[in-house]
Amino acid sequence: MFDVLVVGAGPVGLYSAKLCESLGLNVAILEEHKEIGRPKHCSGLVSTNINKFFPDIESWGVIENKVNYAVLHANGIKLKLDKRHVAAYVIDRVKFDKKIHSMVTSKVFMKHKVMSIGKKDDHIFVNTNRERLEGKILLACDGSYSTIARILGISPKERIRGLIGITNEQSRENHVDLFFDLSRLKDGFFWRIPRGETTEYGVFGRDVKLNELKGFFKKKPKEIYGGTIPIGLSNKLYLDRILLLGDAAGTVKPWSGGGVIYGLISARIAYKIIKKSFDKNDFSESTLKDYEHLLKVAIGKQINIGLMLRNLMKVMNNGMLSFLFKYSSLLPLSWLDMDFIF
Ligand SMILES: Cc1cc2nc3c(=O)[nH]c(=O)nc-3n(C[C@H](O)[C@H](O)[C@H](O)COP(=O)(O)OP(=O)(O)OC[C@H]3O[C@@H](n4cnc5c(N)ncnc54)[C@H](O)[C@@H]3O)c2cc1C
Repeated sequence: MFDVLVVGAGPVGLYSAKLCESLGLNVAILEEHKEIGRPKHCSGLVSTNINKFFPDIESWGVIENKVNYAVLHANGIKLKLDKRHVAAYVIDRVKFDKKIHSMVTSKVFMKHKVMSIGKKDDHIFVNTNRERLEGKILLACDGSYSTIARILGISPKERIRGLIGITNEQSRENHVDLFFDLSRLKDGFFWRIPRGETTEYGVFGRDVKLNELKGFFKKKPKEIYGGTIPIGLSNKLYLDRILLLGDAAGTVKPWSGGGVIYGLISARIAYKIIKKSFDKNDFSESTLKDYEHLLKVAIGKQINIGLMLRNLMKVMNNGMLSFLFKYSSLLPLSWLDMDFIF
């Protein structure tokens, strides 16, 4: 019997495991794939707020480039969002996930896909494709297509798609470009990220396709990958003996698709509640419900503003958007938790 079963060895699951270990808890991490960090599915553009979680990240060897500002493009009009100092890191997500893994002492049960879960009076269990494991509490950190959430009938408001193409072009600029074209894409944008030795071209939106990405940038990527992105917090974030964290809980900025920092925030909040439940030896909903409350206090407002912006974009056209970019002082940019402002 473990104290904590963590489903999913992404950054949120691994960081949660590390926090639980610091409480002296016996943790098992279950991961369906055979290698940490793969398959790749993320740009790894993270704000320098990541230092609040990993203060020595600059020495990890995972940062490919540092960017100071973003340029938003619409209809030939550019809007520069400038922070004047490093706003975000372009990190290699595979190396990043592996580094967090190296800081965890708990066993990661690789190639263990959780298929079903069940509860007994004093524990919860998971059935994987290989074996059954038992614990006192389960943390669902299994990403945007969370098996646990699906079993429990929990889902985010919406799921959209993100696609990435990598070319061999070296790029060391200190900014990222976001391209809006509402005649092609109503609920997302295209982007270009300078990754040092390579360049990343990407797109996110509800039904985006690879041809749209290739057609927009007129590039032939050497490597292509992508994934789904949850939009809006899920309708329930806790049940008896269960907490949902990270993408499994929909902790993603709806305007940008960025989820690493919010996911780590969810892990920190979960840690407080897990500590309380082990202190009281009570894993019931009445103890765990504070998790949802605290998470909504921390990021709920920003997520709702992001949802409003997405809805606004859907009724706008390119002319309106470029007008707003031109007269950017009209935009309530300070409302947004955007890494390139403040
Ligand atoms: C194209 C794209 C670009 C993105 N770019 C950025 C970006 O630039 N910046 C940013 O902050 N965020 C970005 N994101 C979002 C970011 O990738 C996620 O928010 C982040 O990975 C969430 O971490 P997580 O640990 O919750 O989930 P994940 O990283 O998805 O990890 C979940 C883990 O659970 C495992 N798993 C799933 N189901 C099971 C199961 N049944 N049994 C066992 N294991 C299971 C998976 O294999 C995986 O390892 C992007 C997403 C996409 C799709």
